[in-house]
Amino acid sequence: MAMEEPVNEEKILVSVRVRPLNDKEKVKKDVSDWECVNKTVMYKNNQPDRTMSPSAYSFDRVFGCDSTTKQVYEQGAKEVALSVVNGINSTIFAYGQTSSGKTYTMNGITEFAVTDIYDHIERQSDREFVLKFSAMEIYNEVVKDLLSADNAQLRLLDDPEKGTIVEKLSEEVLTDRNHLEELLSICAAQRMIGETSLNETSSRSHQILRLTIESSAKEFQGIPSSGTLAATVNFVDLAGSERVAQALSAGARLKEGCHINRSLLTLGTVIRKLSKGRNGHIPYRDSKLTRILQNSLGGNARTTIICTMSPARSHVEQSKNTLFFASCAKEVTTNAKVNV
Ligand code: ADP
Ligand code: MG
Repeated sequence: MAMEEPVNEEKILVSVRVRPLNDKEKVKKDVSDWECVNKTVMYKNNQPDRTMSPSAYSFDRVFGCDSTTKQVYEQGAKEVALSVVNGINSTIFAYGQTSSGKTYTMNGITEFAVTDIYDHIERQSDREFVLKFSAMEIYNEVVKDLLSADNAQLRLLDDPEKGTIVEKLSEEVLTDRNHLEELLSICAAQRMIGETSLNETSSRSHQILRLTIESSAKEFQGIPSSGTLAATVNFVDLAGSERVAQALSAGARLKEGCHINRSLLTLGTVIRKLSKGRNGHIPYRDSKLTRILQNSLGGNARTTIICTMSPARSHVEQSKNTLFFASCAKEVTTNAKVNV
């Protein structure tokens, strides 16, 4: 676009969801040590002489163990997801340790968002929409297509206009919402297979579900319309944060051969750097995940991060690491601009 648009600075929307104690935790007589009050999550068991970490953390939204995924969606993700129909790219992340509720939360959010997006589209009789869906998984810095039986590794290419593109990634043009539901269940099944056959794969892999929406005004009295809006919404179910969190808070650098997830570590570094202001080098190119999502992080997109955590005393260190990540993300600003 020739003219400079006024830029609307927005913070990343950061939510925390604390799940209920699960049966395994209950059997072990684990206890819930966290309490959610309004927008604050509080640790009830800080020993003043033993820890310097804060006992209360505030975010844009905090969801306690009795919250529903519908509430998390309505208050923590809906607006960001729906910005895609107005031509604004968006990303919804789920971050947290394995078994904290990322997939549970993200699957629900994706379903609700898809329903709302279709409802919105069906109400707009003056515009024509084309929806495309793709899905990928990043495991050990290898990108794979979740919609293809071919297990080939996909390459990332730099496009001067579009930024990073994933070469040969399948893109299905959607016929209707049932078609999308079908594709979502194929992706979920693919991930389930990964979970049982390859030990722990799903806790170490990132899943990106991507919906692209193109829209144009319908032809009016024989006059073709001009101006197409195109935007993408990404639903990102991240790998379990347990291995990376310690390294991040210690400020460690990633070494070759170390069993830390490069993409997750880089995401943490990118978020921390963005939170400290816009100056300086942001290492998007250091990992596949941050390269693929570069346009949705600190750029011109809307972003929301939902951090999930277990309430259990036995997981307190991981929960605090998650809250540390969430606190960094809270400071990040983005510029929401329409793609024309
Ligand atoms: P993750 O993807 O972070 O590893 P999951 O989403 O698979 O974790 O959740 C682990 C288990 O806990 C699953 O059995 C899931 O159904 C359950 N669970 C997660 N969050 C909730 C919640 N908010 N309410 C009830 N059950 C939950
Ligand atoms: Mg999961």
